[in-house]
Amino acid sequence: MVLIDTHSHIFSEEFDVDRDLVLERAANSGVLYHLLPNIDSTSTHRLLDTCHRFSQCFPLMGLHPTSVKEDFEKELYHVEEQLARNRFWGIGEIGIDLYWDKTFFTQQQEAFRHQLRLAKKYNLPVAIHSRSSFKEIFDIVDQEIDQSLRGVFHSFTGTINDYKHIDDYDTFYFGIGGIVTYKNGNVGELIPQMNTEKILLETDSPYLSPVPVRGKRNESYNLIYVAQKVAELLNLSVLDVAKQTTQNAIKLFKLQIDGVG
Ligand SMILES: [Zn+2]
Repeated sequence: MVLIDTHSHIFSEEFDVDRDLVLERAANSGVLYHLLPNIDSTSTHRLLDTCHRFSQCFPLMGLHPTSVKEDFEKELYHVEEQLARNRFWGIGEIGIDLYWDKTFFTQQQEAFRHQLRLAKKYNLPVAIHSRSSFKEIFDIVDQEIDQSLRGVFHSFTGTINDYKHIDDYDTFYFGIGGIVTYKNGNVGELIPQMNTEKILLETDSPYLSPVPVRGKRNESYNLIYVAQKVAELLNLSVLDVAKQTTQNAIKLFKLQIDGVG
């Protein structure tokens, strides 16, 4: 069985003491590949260093909405500089977050639109972070959408209407993570109605640990609990869920992985 963790922050300092062991544990449970979305210019070095050291990790470049502040133009310049200099598998994570702080809402909108355009320019998929902001995100994606714009709504927790809006874009996927295992996380009810060809699995580690390890530091090994829950909700075997979601991830991110696909 091969699983791909499509959203992991294994490069963050929470893993400095045992990063290699965490990746080994993940591999032992079938999680063989990892996509790593950046946060901002202060995390780029860790991100690239991790991907150099571990060939199963693929970097995404972008400015996270909660890192959009007064200096966001400088941060966007950094993103562009990196895109010109290094190879990346996507633009992320980008989006709008109105849950933590609305102070820089207009800057968040501008940074999001700018990075969607970078994705089109470089023909890369985007990893979208949306928190209390589906309407605001849709306003911009509706304007920017074309055949070349594709990506994933990471840690998707929207309503059926949000799902349908995104599904209508035709080129977007849904990142399903630990929240699907929570009793009050209503994304579980949506899973049986979702197109399985558009589902990706992710941990968002070190955050959002699934049941039965909720509250602890999350790591890619725990993707197995997400896969099990999705399999249960779809009435499929874990193996089938692994096969389908791995194929989906390879397709979206254009991963070249030997013997899988
Ligand atoms: Zn994230």
